[in-house]
Formats: sequence, structure tokens, C-alpha cells
Amino acid sequence: MSHEGSQSFSLPSTLKHFTTAILDDGILLVGFDYRGKSVNVLNVESMLEWQDIVQAAERSAAITGVLLMSVKEGNFCAGADLEQMHEAQRQGSFRSMEQLVGIAHQLFDAMERSGKPFVAALEGSCLGGGLELALACHSRIASTHPKTSFALPEVKLGILPGFGGTQRLPRLIGLPAALDLITSGRMVFPRQALRMGLIDGMVSSIPSRMRTLEGIQKETLIQTAIAQARSLRSVPIRQRHVTLRQRLMGSFLVRVLLCGYARHQVKKRVRHFYPAPLRAVDAMQCGMGMSVLEASVTAEKPRLMELMASPVSRHLVSLFLAGEDVKRKAASAPDAVTRVGVLGAGLMGSQIAGQLAEKGYTVGLRDVASNILAGAMGRILKAQMNQVRKKIILPSELRYRLLRIAPTTTMKDLSASPLVIEAVSEKLDVKRAVLAEFESEAGPDAIFATNTSSYTLADIALKAVHPQRCVGLHFFNPVAKMQLVEVVRAPFTADQALRQACSIAKRLSKFPLVVRDGPGFLVNRILSRYLAEAVILVGEGIPIGRIDTIAKDFGMAVDSGHPMGPLELIDLIGLPVAMHVLASLAVLGSRIETSDALLQSLLGDSKTPVPFWKSGVENRQALDVIADYRRAYPSKAGPVSDEIIHHRLFLPMVDEAVRCLHDHIVEQAWEVDFALTYGIGFPAFRGGLLTWARQTMSPEQIARKLNDLSHTFGKRFEPFPGLSHGEW
Ligand code: NAD
Repeated sequence: MSHEGSQSFSLPSTLKHFTTAILDDGILLVGFDYRGKSVNVLNVESMLEWQDIVQAAERSAAITGVLLMSVKEGNFCAGADLEQMHEAQRQGSFRSMEQLVGIAHQLFDAMERSGKPFVAALEGSCLGGGLELALACHSRIASTHPKTSFALPEVKLGILPGFGGTQRLPRLIGLPAALDLITSGRMVFPRQALRMGLIDGMVSSIPSRMRTLEGIQKETLIQTAIAQARSLRSVPIRQRHVTLRQRLMGSFLVRVLLCGYARHQVKKRVRHFYPAPLRAVDAMQCGMGMSVLEASVTAEKPRLMELMASPVSRHLVSLFLAGEDVKRKAASAPDAVTRVGVLGAGLMGSQIAGQLAEKGYTVGLRDVASNILAGAMGRILKAQMNQVRKKIILPSELRYRLLRIAPTTTMKDLSASPLVIEAVSEKLDVKRAVLAEFESEAGPDAIFATNTSSYTLADIALKAVHPQRCVGLHFFNPVAKMQLVEVVRAPFTADQALRQACSIAKRLSKFPLVVRDGPGFLVNRILSRYLAEAVILVGEGIPIGRIDTIAKDFGMAVDSGHPMGPLELIDLIGLPVAMHVLASLAVLGSRIETSDALLQSLLGDSKTPVPFWKSGVENRQALDVIADYRRAYPSKAGPVSDEIIHHRLFLPMVDEAVRCLHDHIVEQAWEVDFALTYGIGFPAFRGGLLTWARQTMSPEQIARKLNDLSHTFGKRFEPFPGLSHGEW
């Protein structure tokens, strides 16, 4: 192997983000290693360097092919630099972004048209612009590294793939699959990518520890990709095989039909709230008859720039960056644990254990009886089987995951775990007894992380011998889907316990939001106001459907793919749990008020609580219970408009959020926005609860409206005195 500068190949500038080496037969190896960031990003600076490399390779007769790889482990490229985009959105000036898009279009076109083969060796996440870069290569070889994943997630940021992705992807994998990937932004994994033709080869490869271009060259992935580059040198590159099916799919009529269907699906999923997936479909439909470059410039770019300037995209990008801040702020433990005990194998414990095993932890799962444990293992198997079915993992990986979980009925078996997550029944005496048992069995530094949703950490640790080891790790249901975890810190919680809890949450790919201990922590405290008011409205005779529709029309839970109002949410949480949480918040004052008698009637003997909804329609039985309640407690409230219902549902949440800030549950308004978006499905396109509130009304107006509501509907609406000052 000869090195940079040899054989008439020379680069015009010193490279900061790439390293290069040349093999004896002229294959240029290029390692992407963005300096100063943990992931590779594409901005004007890195793109211009890549341009220098591409042009130099093209000019030099000594270079016979180019192999692009990442030197960073677990990340090929995260895509465009979102901080740069966010800055442009804040300033309302998009010149730098336009420049970046322009360079990408020309450069990717030059790669594609080059007579020399460009091959991408893909390991780790390959997202957005990173995938578009790989798409511009003539071939893609990927490794089965657990982090290898592919997505064009731009619609989740309110934009569309803007480096030619809307044009190259359908040409590579066909229009139907491309429409699906681009309009959903969903991720695919190597086996799926291979099946759909997104990659040309897949190898299992062990990443080298030495993260330099020399170090990684010996990996099977790189060796395979080098072989691919060599083999491509002998075939004319531009003659790609186009199947009959692809030709049919490209015909005008089929294209129109497929795009029409995709639009219909998008509207069904996200209604009119998100313009980006629809604009992406437009760009794909318009561009199909043109060259990739022409289509990128005329069909893709104008739509991208329009979307980038929209408030929806600004909000989504802010929330994305807030997530990065949440992860950054949550300090990790340097000696993160690898073995975790889970106490309680019920609904939450089994899901948490499954997630831990999936991420490689050794798990001891403890419950009081073997049949409960057997049920839990069955549920874990079912959830994990899904990934086998979707070709995300092999059956062997599923077996390894299950083998990592050791079910037990004895606490002693968890004594070697440096950390346990407690998810036993929501009863204070049970939780305290479990903590005492843990303290008697566990090692001197072992950490106790509770998943309680209605007690405070101080309640649970009241009689603890070592309260400093106690921390909250509040997961949301369903655990695999909900990305937020509240990491609860009480004054007695030691830093080490907090760091270990944050490390686990991060390794489970969650956002660990550190919150101060207090009733309902952050999310449930704010959520309770919303749920409680919905129940009061039902008690006043407002139809269940009307209340939930008002919330859904506002966009509640639209991002989860299942828009949902507060009453359906109570059904999902389960009436007993919801009532438990509401009752535990009563200590906050009389504003946490609801129709207790109505909830009690719906709860009945608590074995079969009556849900508000049944098979998608208002539950007859619930309507009867409500009618009985209304006869017993006739409402004095007259007719109410949709606007008032809306205010009654959402303004108390704003009030409670401001109180949480005042109580230092979290310090920043953006943390509230982030938590409610990821914790209860507050619509992301509105930017979060407090951002929405500020953009809709002034703080004085909100306080005035709450005051008006308190005069008509009760003191619970009285605003927090600090709300109108607007320091939030
Ligand atoms: P669950 O009733 O489904 O499961 C509780 C399990 O704990 C049961 O299997 C029970 O047998 C077991 N258990 C009882 N005593 C035990 C002991 N001494 N040792 C070991 N196991 C014991 O309850 P869940 O819904 O999984 O809730 C568990 C915890 O998670 C609660 O603190 C709850 O507040 C919290 N949580 C629940 C949700 C939710 O949506 N259900 C969401 C967030 C947090």
C-alpha cells in the first residue's frame, strides 16, 4: 500500500474531516471522521473537503476507484448538520443551506457520472444526507454491526431529503418502497436493506479497536468493499440493470396512482398537520421523468427550501436538538453497569427486562411466583419475535437475548446486580418492603431505581438505610415506543446513582430527562390536569367523542400514529392507575380536582373498570354510568363551546407547567416542551406545550383566560401568580 501524495494523486488542501490512503492498485480509501463531533455530519465545510477528494480522484489517472468509509465506530454519517440548519431557521436566512444543497447536488451527480467506481462501506447509522451520499455511490456494502441502520428521516424534521434522495431512492429500490421509506422516515436494518436492494452486500464484521484508516482496513467489511470496488472497475458503471417491474413502476400512470395512494396514506396518518411527507411525494412524482440532477434541482430543492422555512420544521428541529441536549446534560457513569436486576415482572417489569436484554444487559427478573415469571417471559418472547419476523434480527440473536434474562423468585439471586429497577405493584408498603429486602441482600453500593409513577422517591425511600442509593427511573408505557425516561433525583440521591440511571436510559436509546423529586414528577403532574378536566367535562354531559375529537383536532398523539384524546388515554393507562396518580397529586392543592364519584362508579369493583371507549365507539356501559352520575350530581354548567373545552383542557396544563418550573422540577421551559412531546404525545409540530402557549397568547392573556374560567367553572382554574409575568 502506498500513501497519500504518492502516484500523481494530490489533494489541494489539508483535510480536517477525512483521511486518505491509496492501495497499490489505485483504490483510494477515504475515512470520514468529522473532527470535534461524535458523529459525521455534512455541512459546507465537510462537503467541500469531500468535493476536493472527489475531484482529485477524478483528475488522477492513478486512482482507479474510491472507497468511502467511516472511521467513527457505530456511525457512518448522521446527515446534514442540524445545528447549522437550526441557526439558519432562527435567523430566517437560508443562504448557507442553499449553498450546501447546491454543492451536494453537483457533487453527488459528479460521483454518479464518474467512470471510476465509488463504493460505500456502511457500518453504524447511515441517516439522511449520509444515506443520500451512500446512494450516490455505485455500490453499498454494509456490516451487521448492531448500530447499522438506514433511514431518510427528514420528514420527521419537517423537511424532505434534499441531496437528491427523493430521486435516487425510487430509482434504486422502486417507487413503492421509496415512498414508504421517505414519507415515514422509518429505519431499516441491514437484512431488510439487502432485501429491498438498498445495499448490494452484507457482511458480519468485527469493528477494529484502532479507529484509524489503517486500523479499520483489516475489517471484513472494508476488505469486502475493496473487492467490490475492484470488481466494478471491469464493468461499465452506468449500465445499471433495470428490471421490467421497475420499468412498469416508472410509467406515468402507475407513478400517478402510487403517489396518489401514498398521499392518501400520509393524510390518514398525520392529517393536515405535517406538510413534508406530501411535498416529498410531489417531488418524487414530478422528478421521475427527468435526470436525477435536473429533478433534484427543479422538483426537490424548491420544496425543501419552502419546508425548511416553515414553523413546523423549526419546531421539529428545535425538539430534535433539545433531545441531544437532554442526552448531553444527563451525565453518564464511567463504569456503567452491565448486569441489572428487575423487581416485578408485570406489565412494566417485563417490558423493561426485554429492553435491557435487547441492549446486551444481563438481567435478573424477579417476581413472587413462577407462573407470573413464565407469563412475563412469554410476553418478552412475543415482543422480540416481531423483530425476527421483520428480519431485523436472526433467530439466534433472539435466543441470546432471552438467555440473558434469568427469571427468579428469590431476591438473593439479584444480590450480584449493581443496580435494580423496581417495577412492583404500585403500593407504598410493597415498595418499601421490597426496598428493605433489597438493602439486606444487595452489595454495599448497589443502586435502587424505582419506576413508580405516583409516589415520590422520598415516600419510597423514607425508611431506607442508604437513601443515597435511591433514584427514580420512570419509564412510560409502552416501553419500547416511548422515548422519554424521567430520571428522578431527590436531595438525598447520590451522583453515582443518578449517573448510572442516566447511563442505562441512554443505552436503551431513551432520553433521560433529569427531574426533581415531587408528586407526579414532571410529566404526570402536568398530564393530570388534562385528564382530570376531561373527566369533569364528561360529568357535565359533554359527549366523550366531542372531548376526544377536540384534543385530536389539536394533534394530540398524532406523532405516535394513533391520535388520541384524554379519555381514550385514560382507557390506555388504565382507570386504576390513572386514579392512583390523580389521588397522589391531591397534596399539591385543590386545583387537582376531578369528578371522583364518576371515576369511582366507572371503577366499580375495580376488577373490570368501565372504559370510555369500546371497539372505537363510545362505550354504552360508560354512557349509562355517566347518565346515572348526572342524575345524582346534576351539572350547573350550561352549554360550552369547543373553544372553551379546548381552553379547559390545555390551559391548566400550561399553568401546571409554569408551577413545575417555579418548583424547579426542571429548570428550563424547553425541558417541559420536550418532556410533554415525548412523554404524552403533545403534538411536536406545535413545538411543545410552552412554545405553543407563548405563540398563541401572551402570558397576560393566558392568565386572564384562566381567571375567566375560574369565575365560571371553579377555583381550580385560578392561575399561578407568576404565570402572567411571563418568566417561563
Ligand atoms: P403490574 O401490576 O403489571 O406488575 C407488578 C408486578 O409486581 C406483579 O407481577 C406482581 O406480582 C409483582 N410484585 C408484587 N410484589 C412483588 C415483590 N415483592 N417482588 C417482586 N415482584 C412483586 O404493574 P405495572 O403496571 O407493571 O407497574 C409496575 C410499576 O411501574 C408501578 O410502580 C407503576 O406505577 C409503574 N408504572 C406503570 C406504568 C403503566 O402504564 N402501567 C407506567 C409507568 C410506570
